[in-house]
Amino acid sequence: MKQYKWITALVFCVSVGLPAQQITIRVGTLLDGKGATLHNTTLVIEGSKIIKIDPSIRKTTYDFSSLTVMPGWIDTHAHIANHFDRKTHRISVAPDETPQEAILAEEENAYLTMMGGFTTVQSPGSPLDKYIRDFEGDPIPVPRILTSMGAIHDGTPEEIRAKVRQFVADGADFIKLFDTKSIREGGAPTMNQDQVDAACGEAKKLGKRVIVHAQGPEGAKMAVLAGCTSIEHGNRLTDEVLDLMVQHGTYYDPNWGILLHNYIENKEHYLGVGNYNEEGFMYLQKGIPVGIDTFHRAMAKHVKIIFGTDAMPGTHGRNAEEMIFRVRDGGQPAMDAIVGATSLAAESINLQNQIGSIAPGMEADIIATDGNPATDITNVRRVVFVMKAGRVYKNIHLAPGETSIVLGPNAR
Ligand SMILES: [Zn+2]
Repeated sequence: MKQYKWITALVFCVSVGLPAQQITIRVGTLLDGKGATLHNTTLVIEGSKIIKIDPSIRKTTYDFSSLTVMPGWIDTHAHIANHFDRKTHRISVAPDETPQEAILAEEENAYLTMMGGFTTVQSPGSPLDKYIRDFEGDPIPVPRILTSMGAIHDGTPEEIRAKVRQFVADGADFIKLFDTKSIREGGAPTMNQDQVDAACGEAKKLGKRVIVHAQGPEGAKMAVLAGCTSIEHGNRLTDEVLDLMVQHGTYYDPNWGILLHNYIENKEHYLGVGNYNEEGFMYLQKGIPVGIDTFHRAMAKHVKIIFGTDAMPGTHGRNAEEMIFRVRDGGQPAMDAIVGATSLAAESINLQNQIGSIAPGMEADIIATDGNPATDITNVRRVVFVMKAGRVYKNIHLAPGETSIVLGPNAR
């Protein structure tokens, strides 16, 4: 009887082409992305969406009774276009690189990032990003991509407004603004309040967010007062600025973890290019304890801390290491680090109704780890399953002690 039903259902699907296929996942431990943990339940996925969570369903497509399941992670700041040149193994400034080579390198980074558990990436940003963003979908194994297409560094308020309009016209999902110098140059402000107001005001009119590279407190304060969405890096913020961020609901995307450690580990691949000089590296080294101090104060004040890595060559594919840095060296509770990479990150990119939590109606962006990262954050290295929009891209087994991180030439 049961078989006949199946056959009928199959014929029905084939004849009218309905995407009625359901996938069910039995889950031992479920982190919902908002801080709650459920046990022994079943997720029902139809098409690209989670349609039901029902503990009474026991016969399932996937039995993850011994695994931990959670929403696919979101990296709110990853430079997936940036890569080491294949010939020189240095940060890419290769004049002879073809666009084909550049896009393949970005594709590789995007693939490795997704295999590492990240189903969404915000890239601030390269004009190349949009090719991968717009090509995303079955069966290309890359994360959802939001891109700023480039960044605004200078200009009069009128020029800045025009640049915002141009980026939006070119297809940017959001705007990236620099209002301070690099951490390697000390992070002093490079814009005044009128310029920052122009950027964030114009973007708002067009329904776009602005994320602001601000290392020091002067630049961060201007961004908060201008109503911009997030402070990127914010390595040395004062209590005054952190309080203002709480008042204005500004997100904080600190990057003293994997980013600064990666620069130091991969120094030979960066040194000698632009401001990657000895003085710059001195600032990077000094920046780690300074960043951790700001991070501690931001946590104590309940600033909304989101998960961005500022992924550069050397980190693509191991973005999740940032969670380990935040928990181990920064003292962040593991669940807060996970929420920062799921529902809070989704809220910061205005996609909280689609991704970042496990609930009926949400997109089926689902990952599983062998071991619960909420109890031991190093389990973020053990991603065994990746589903994006209901499609499975990774399903592996790991031996005890083995990690799932695949290192390409851009993640040594
Ligand atoms: Zn960046």
